[in-house]
Amino acid sequence: MAPELPKELDKRTTQDDVPDMEAIKSLRIPADFPLIDAHAHYGGESPVMMEWMAANKLKIVNIGGQERGKIYRRLIEDHPDKYGWITSILVPDCENEDFVPAEYAEKAISDMANDIAAGAVGVKVFKMIGMMTQKADGSYLQIDDPILKPLFDWMEANDVTHIAHVAEAMGCWQPFGEKNAYSKYYSNNPNYYMYDKPERPHHSTIMAARDAVIERHPKMRFVGAHFGCLEYDVDEQAKRFDKYPNFAVDTSGWTRIIDLSFQDPAKVRDFFIKYQDRLMFGTDRSIKDKGQLEMSEDELAASMWAMVNAVNTGWEYYATDKVVDIKGYKIKGISLPDDVLEKLFRTNAQKWYPGL
Ligand SMILES: [Zn+2]
Repeated sequence: MAPELPKELDKRTTQDDVPDMEAIKSLRIPADFPLIDAHAHYGGESPVMMEWMAANKLKIVNIGGQERGKIYRRLIEDHPDKYGWITSILVPDCENEDFVPAEYAEKAISDMANDIAAGAVGVKVFKMIGMMTQKADGSYLQIDDPILKPLFDWMEANDVTHIAHVAEAMGCWQPFGEKNAYSKYYSNNPNYYMYDKPERPHHSTIMAARDAVIERHPKMRFVGAHFGCLEYDVDEQAKRFDKYPNFAVDTSGWTRIIDLSFQDPAKVRDFFIKYQDRLMFGTDRSIKDKGQLEMSEDELAASMWAMVNAVNTGWEYYATDKVVDIKGYKIKGISLPDDVLEKLFRTNAQKWYPGL
């Protein structure tokens, strides 16, 4: 049982009220260059959403393989100017006593090769690896396990970018409170909350395994999703950037902006300027249950607003000194210089995912 959420934190909401459709449609991001959301799980194929994307010159990169990958593949085929696609690896069934690593590697590599040939610009490992997937001996599979090595060897040899979401934000291993922006999320998703599960791999164990893979494959471009799960301290990220030239991160998940706000704003701004070639904007916005084409008017407005609001709030935080409201936290923007913004919101994604 996860601990109870303190009452004062429960008042925070993830979204303000959804404005009416006309207001959503007319919202414009004041960038003078095209934008890329480098990390989303967003079908977004209603004509009205695509009009908004065209008007704001926004391209959305969807991440997911297998069943979801089919939707994302169709979107890049039908609308290559509006969507990109990153597939994901087949999760090994290594809990099974009959699991044969070589057979798994062959199938996983053949799946990746097919998706890359179909236009995917990268391959992701999801957080099941590191935190959830167990081996037959009961241990938790880590990303540096020999089972996965042939996959990374293949990506490195074939110039395929890897993106990893292993681990979670540090709040997953911390008590609930004002300085844990994930308190409400984990109180609603207690299975993923690790503070009360000391028998599970700790953040530091998962990060060490992740760093080992970056180091072992120096020619592979390696992107850490969600600030590489080092959102709590820009110094920890800087250490990796200095050590691994093949490492970049995306900023996806706007709760991470709250984590940045807990750090010295001048230092955060300096970090974005110093490492301006290693950071790319992402929203992590998703559409889960049904496609936009099947939604009612209200559902469509809510699903559009989720994306429009995330891009707009991200822009206001990084590009201006306005105060943004994220889940009730009031945060002043860091007003990055124009050339840094263009890298963050566009060119770095193109550089780290060639073919976008
Ligand atoms: Zn994601």
